[in-house]
Formats: sequence, C-alpha cells, structure tokens
Amino acid sequence: MKVLKFGGTSVGTPESLRSVKNIVESCDERVIVVVSALGGITDRLIATAREAEKVSPGYQDMFREIIDRHHAMTEEMVPADERAQVILAIDALFKELSDIYLGVSLLRELSERSLDRVVSYGERLSSTIIEHVINGAVLRFSPSFIRTTRQFGRHVLDNDLTHRCIASEFAEAPERITLVGGFISSDEQGHITNLGRGGSDYTAAILAAELRAETLEIWTDVDGFMTADPRIIPSAKVIDELSFVEAMELCNFGAKVIYPPTIYPVFHRNIPIYIKNTFNPSYPGTRIADIENLSKEPSAGGVSSISDTCLLRVKISDSAVQEATESRMINALSRNGINVFLTSRPAGCFEICCAISASSLPAARSALLAEFSSELETGEMPPLSVSDNLATIALVGENINPDETVRRKICSALHEAKISPVTLPAGSTDSTVSFMVEMDNRVKALQAIHRAFFECGY
Ligand code: ADP
Ligand code: ASP
Ligand code: MG
Repeated sequence: MKVLKFGGTSVGTPESLRSVKNIVESCDERVIVVVSALGGITDRLIATAREAEKVSPGYQDMFREIIDRHHAMTEEMVPADERAQVILAIDALFKELSDIYLGVSLLRELSERSLDRVVSYGERLSSTIIEHVINGAVLRFSPSFIRTTRQFGRHVLDNDLTHRCIASEFAEAPERITLVGGFISSDEQGHITNLGRGGSDYTAAILAAELRAETLEIWTDVDGFMTADPRIIPSAKVIDELSFVEAMELCNFGAKVIYPPTIYPVFHRNIPIYIKNTFNPSYPGTRIADIENLSKEPSAGGVSSISDTCLLRVKISDSAVQEATESRMINALSRNGINVFLTSRPAGCFEICCAISASSLPAARSALLAEFSSELETGEMPPLSVSDNLATIALVGENINPDETVRRKICSALHEAKISPVTLPAGSTDSTVSFMVEMDNRVKALQAIHRAFFECGY
C-alpha cells in the first residue's frame, strides 16, 4: 500500500487534475490519496472571511468567485451522469459556508474557531469533487480520524487519539482507492481544526505511518527536492537522494516543498518519501530515505532560509555563567513552545543570542522576563535587547558541521558578495551550518552560498 499526496497546484486546474487521475488510476496496488484544496482557494477563503468581518460588500463577489471555480471544475471533470449529485453536495457545503460568512459579517468578528471552520471548506470541497473524478475512489472524512489537541495556543496532533481513530476507521476499508482531504482535523470537542498551513503533507505522513505504507509520495509542481528554492535560485538542481535528517533540517529551515512535521512520522517507521512532479510524472524525483553516508565525507545537500526571524540578546556579566544562562534561555523558550533556530555567543562580547521567528517575539519576551526576573530586577542583567528584520540561512548536508572548511567557505562566499553576516556560521547539528543576515541581504546571501557550494563544485 502507498500513500499519494497531491498539493493545491496538482488539483488546481482541469488539466492538472487529469494528470492526477491518470497517476492514481495507473497504480495497481492499494492506495490512499490525500488531496489539498484547489490551488489558491485556502488564501481566498481567508481573504473572503476578512472582508466579511469588515462588512465590505466585496466579500459577496469574492465568495461568488470561489463558488464559480468549483462549479466550473465539476462541469469539466465530473462525468455527466454524476454531475448533478456533485453540484448538490458542494452547494450544501456552500450553504453552510455562506451562513458562516453571514455570521462573521453580522458579528463583525472573525474568531479563530470561525476561521478554522472557514478554511476547512477548501479540502471538503476539493475532495467531494475529486471522489467523482478518480474511478473507484471512496472518500473518508479526515476530521473523524485526524485529531488534535491544544498546546501553546496552537492545534497539535493528538497522537494517541489519532492512532485509535485511524485504527478503527481503517479496520475495514475494503476499497482499493481511499480518498482523504488533507489538512483538516477535529479536536476533543468535535470542533473542526487543522494541522497548519501546508498541513496536507502531514495528513499523508500520519496515514502512511499508522497504516504502515510502503512509500509516501508527495506530488507537487517541481521535479523534486532541489538544492534551493527554485523561485529564488533558478539554477537550483533536483537532488536525487536525501537522508531523512537532511530533508528534516532543510524543511525546518524553510524549504517549503514539504511541511516540516511531515517527515518525522515516516522517518520513525523508515518509510521512504518520494517527491514527484504531477506535471512531469515520468521524472524519477527525489527519494528521501534512511541513507547512510558511509564515507563520512562532508557533502552539501541544499540551502534554505527562514524570513522574518529576530535575535534575542541577553547580556551576561562574565563567561563563568555563559553555559548556564544559555541553557536557561533555551529551556525557558522551549517550555513555552518557542522554536529556537540557532544560538550564538558572539566572540569578544558577553552575550548569548537566540534566533526565533518574529511572530513568537511577544511570547519569547515574556518567557525570558519571567526566567530572568530576579537578575533583571537587581540590575545584574541589563534589559533584553532584540535585533529584528533578519533572515536565517542554513546549509544542510551530511557531516558538514564538523568540517571547518565549510564554515570558511561560507564566510568567503559572503565576503565576496559584500555581505556581513549578523551571526557567524555555526552548526546546530552535524548536518547543518546556519547564520543570520539582514532581511535585505537574504536573496543575495542564498545566491552566494548556492554558487559556492552547488555551482562551482564542492
Ligand atoms: P503543494 O501545493 O504541492 O503543496 P507547495 O507550494 O507547498 O506545493 O511546495 C512546492 C513549492 O515549494 C515549489 O513550487 C517551490 O517553489 C517551493 N520550494 C521551496 N524550496 C524548495 C526546494 N528546496 N525544492 C523544491 N521546491 C522548493
Ligand atoms: N490547503 C491548505 C493550505 O493551503 C493545506 C495544504 O495545501 O497543504 O495551506
Ligand atoms: Mg505544500
């Protein structure tokens, strides 16, 4: 059995959906197919909700466009004898959505719960249509078995409940092609939730891991995992093979091709992932698996970046408290669910720095104020400072961190491009070396690193 996930662009137009149909129908084993909303629809659902909240009359037109797009897809792709039934089903969903938009505009308030409901219609609509496009597909409602709980103000997967729900849902699943809408889930109270933007990849990985699939295939709009984001670096090349760890690091550092939490569940079960192009299905794509670099030679896999990061700076009185302060800082941040991308101790100054995303700055500030309250009160520690508008760039590859030449090569590539990094290249794991630059230098720095490691031989 294998799990195939098709993203928004893959199900965005009749032409791409025809390709999806061919790919799925030509599989001869049992498959679980996970689909996203039609490309761009999640953004439109959110934008329409925001207009409804402002009671802007334009929201009706935006809503109409969403309806028209799904009707047009149904007209073009669903066989004539099933079309009326599908129109009836999607119109019932549009009636519910229309009531929600009306409620939002009457109350002039868009709560998180309402927005979670609104965005869920993207996958509910796409999967309702696609069930009638792929011959033999049987649709199962993912919120009944992908279950979330709340942690640090976010929906996170409830592993135990999801495990039990998937076991019971799929105990008897005789169909050869199961279709599932990705991204959407439900919480303990039965409210519709989701796994976060880009979360359909995660739905597919959870199902692959729970049902012990042989492979997980992520079908998208590029030929595979590339050495950099092809929109920023047009000369980026497809990577034939990546280890789970390399792929996980690249995604954690912003490679959008896979939603970061996706890799762990399949890594845990040693299920290989293939990244494939819906628009070029015969291309082999990228294989992500438990690949061991037996030679232990350093080899760069790819470079990625996270925009909008900031650097929290804590001053210390002397080097004796450096280690203890750094671990208190990291622990306080992680206890509050804040992801630290890198830490740095700039040479020559008594300071500890942690890179976090700008959106978590308020929570991070409160966590550190609480952690260091006594030192701050007595004046033993000067007030925290923050440098913002930064980007974090990561070069990822097996065994590159212990290799001093990699860091030197990064520094000289940045020097040649006339960029002074905000933090010096440093490794967080054996396979990652990362540094920060001003946001304005992000693209230039990515280009410089890509040129040095992937275009000039390494
Ligand atoms: P989908 O709708 O299929 O989920 P996404 O837009 O989420 O697709 O992810 C695919 C996109 O990820 C590609 O079109 C590409 O622009 C971007 N991307 C960013 N980094 C990389 C990378 N290292 N390799 C491949 N694609 C990348
Ligand atoms: N439709 C959702 C989004 O746009 C989930 C996904 O595409 O993976 O974020
Ligand atoms: Mg995606």
